[in-house]
Amino acid sequence: MRIEVITIGDELLLGFTIDTNSAFLARELAELGIAVARRSSVADNRDEIAREVRAALERTGAVITSGGLGPTSDDVSVEAVAVALGRELIEDASVIARMEERFRAMGNKIPLNRMNRRQALVPSGAEVLINRHGTAPGLWIADAADRVVVMLPGVPRELRGIFVEEVKPRLARAFPAGGVILSRTLRTTGIAESVLAQRIADSGEGFPSLAYLPGWEGVDLRVTISGLHEQEASQFLAVSIEKLRRITGHHAYAEDATDLASVVLQEARRRGERIVVAESCTGGMLGARLTAIPGSSDVFLGGIISYSNDVKNRKLGVSLSTLETHGAVSEQTVLEMAAGVCDSFGSEIGIAISGIAGPGGGTAKKPVGTVCVAVQARGTTSSATRILTGDRDEIRRRATQMALDSARLLLSQSGEVRQ
Ligand code: ATP
Repeated sequence: MRIEVITIGDELLLGFTIDTNSAFLARELAELGIAVARRSSVADNRDEIAREVRAALERTGAVITSGGLGPTSDDVSVEAVAVALGRELIEDASVIARMEERFRAMGNKIPLNRMNRRQALVPSGAEVLINRHGTAPGLWIADAADRVVVMLPGVPRELRGIFVEEVKPRLARAFPAGGVILSRTLRTTGIAESVLAQRIADSGEGFPSLAYLPGWEGVDLRVTISGLHEQEASQFLAVSIEKLRRITGHHAYAEDATDLASVVLQEARRRGERIVVAESCTGGMLGARLTAIPGSSDVFLGGIISYSNDVKNRKLGVSLSTLETHGAVSEQTVLEMAAGVCDSFGSEIGIAISGIAGPGGGTAKKPVGTVCVAVQARGTTSSATRILTGDRDEIRRRATQMALDSARLLLSQSGEVRQ
């Protein structure tokens, strides 16, 4: 089963509104085993909407629209669909009754005006979908050939509400699934997309639908399977993820939406240890990542933002000779920062970052993007230097991710678990 999604609104075409409705619908439809065959956006223009809906019905036979159901004169979607299907518009008594009830409940004694009544006009033969989250109702309009147009409001909260409460059950009944569309994502970091692709190709393993999703956190690998029943699809995905874990080795850190910071916190928790941070170029971003995870307070104690050399020396005990000989951006310095912050807080795990975020400050030996991180955990230490790409903001975010990853690797490899 396939369906088309048409989002309607001038704002979408002007770029003032980001089309999140299509993404929501695609994800929800996938759960029903329904694939989105095509997505399009059109202006608030009756003829263009009618043309697009007609074309979608001819191509695919099923279409969901979003937007343009409001009471104002630029809301022309219902009129357009009536034209596309050759239906007349009639006032729906149930919509009028619900609107009056809603107004009464809100203490509004003014009778419905012409604009309000306009919202109760529906194409003849349409089934009204109750909107419990706003005034514009949704519509389900089927024709003699079992082709269907579903109309939903543009306001995301209203669209989501009507879709889940009214449309999803109807779609499940009208188009019983030949299978589901399921996805699982393996998150990797510290490895380039091209290197990953090469490793996967060299492994000789095939993945029917594998998407590479690179970002500043790393490369997410998403496997999608469609057409199987839920249990088979889940099993297939479990096997695929296992294969990808083997191929990607220590670069794989989590699945789906799990943040690397929560993996690090979990490792520290498992070891019964606490984390502190010492940050230079990231100015608190590492602390922000860790504290963004609910429940981090049992493991994360705090940190020191040691932006200047003076603070590195006086608050963290980084020796002046280290700073002079190796510089503030060096593995020697970050190792001393990590040791110093552990001492200062009496903590077991210390993570330190120093780097050149740019755009100025780079040299031939240490160009912009040079970042050093160090981790100390009960006597064991690790340190690394990399040259990260991107603008100042990206370099700082990537540096944070690099430090978290170093911590994950050290914590998962070393140290016995304290009982
Ligand atoms: P209502 O009458 O309840 O406003 P409507 O169907 O007339 O509903 P629109 O006027 O088209 O909705 O859009 C209302 C708001 O919803 C827009 O201002 C925009 O912020 C948001 N919106 C519209 N379409 C989308 C979309 N595709 N994705 C995300 N947001 C959207």
